Amino acid sequence: MVAVRATTLPVLTGLMLLTACSGGGAGASSSAAAPSTSAAPSSSAQGPASSAPPLPSSSAAATSSAAAPAVGSGKVVVLDPGHNGGNASHPGEINRQVPAGRGHTKPCNTTGTSTNSGYPEHAFTFAVAQEVGNALAAKGIKVVYTRTNDSGVGPCVNERAQIGNNANADAVVSIHADGSTSPTAHGFHVAYSSPPLNAAQGEPSMKLARTMRDGMRDDGFPTSTYIGSAGLSPRNDLGGLNLSTRPAVLVECGNMRNADEAAQMSSAAGRQHYAQAIAQAIEAYLAG
Ligand code: ZN
Repeated sequence: MVAVRATTLPVLTGLMLLTACSGGGAGASSSAAAPSTSAAPSSSAQGPASSAPPLPSSSAAATSSAAAPAVGSGKVVVLDPGHNGGNASHPGEINRQVPAGRGHTKPCNTTGTSTNSGYPEHAFTFAVAQEVGNALAAKGIKVVYTRTNDSGVGPCVNERAQIGNNANADAVVSIHADGSTSPTAHGFHVAYSSPPLNAAQGEPSMKLARTMRDGMRDDGFPTSTYIGSAGLSPRNDLGGLNLSTRPAVLVECGNMRNADEAAQMSSAAGRQHYAQAIAQAIEAYLAG
C-alpha cells in the first residue's frame, strides 16, 4: 500500500531536495537507513549519488550473482520491498517529512497494510522480493535490495530511490500490496511516474510498466478492478518514483483485504507465483 499524497508542503527547493537525500545530518536518517546496510553498505549509507561510486557499491551490495555468463550478465536490478517490520514501533522516525519530488514532502515511510487476519504487507513484500531476487541472480543479474531484513525501520522513500540511482540500476521495482477497504476490489496494478521528471521516467519506465503488466496478466493475475486502467496507474505523488533517475515502477500485487488475494499472499505458493511473474517480467524488460 502506498498512501496517496498526505502532506503537500511546497516549500522545498530543488537544492534542498538534492542535499536532503544525504540525510542532512539528522539522526533519524542514519538509523532509518541502517536496515539496508547489511547488504547494500555503500549505496544505501553514503547519501548523495554524486559521491557514491556506483559500480563498486553495487557489486559489493549484490547478495548473489551467477559466475557463469547468462542472459542477465552485467545488468543491475534494484528490488524495493515496501515498508519494514520495525516501522510501526518507530513512528517518530518514519513520520518525519522527507523530500518526495515535485516540491513536496512525505513521511519517511509508512507501516503498510495487512490482511484481515493480520498478515502484514511488509512481510509479504519482503518475501516476494527475496524470491524475485533469487530468480534474477540465477540468471546472472546483479540484484541490490533496498532492505535486507524485515525487522528494521525504513529506509525512507527518498533513500530507497537513492539506492536505485546509486546502483545505476537497469530496472527498479518496488513491491507492495494494497489495502482497499472494499472486499470485492481486487487485482494488481503497476504505477509509474507521470508526468515524467527525467528521461528515465519517460519511455523506459513506461516500457517497464507495460512489460510488468503484461507479464503478470499473462501469468494469470487479474488487473485491478479499482485503480488505474488495464493494470497501469500513472502517478505524480509517489516519492520513490518521483526521485528515481532510473527506469522504475511500483507493483501493487493485489488487495490484501480481498479474501482470495489475501489467501494467495499469505501462502508460500502464492508468493512464489507473484515472484515468478515479477521476475519473468523483469527479465523480459531487460532482454528488451
Ligand atoms: Zn505498500
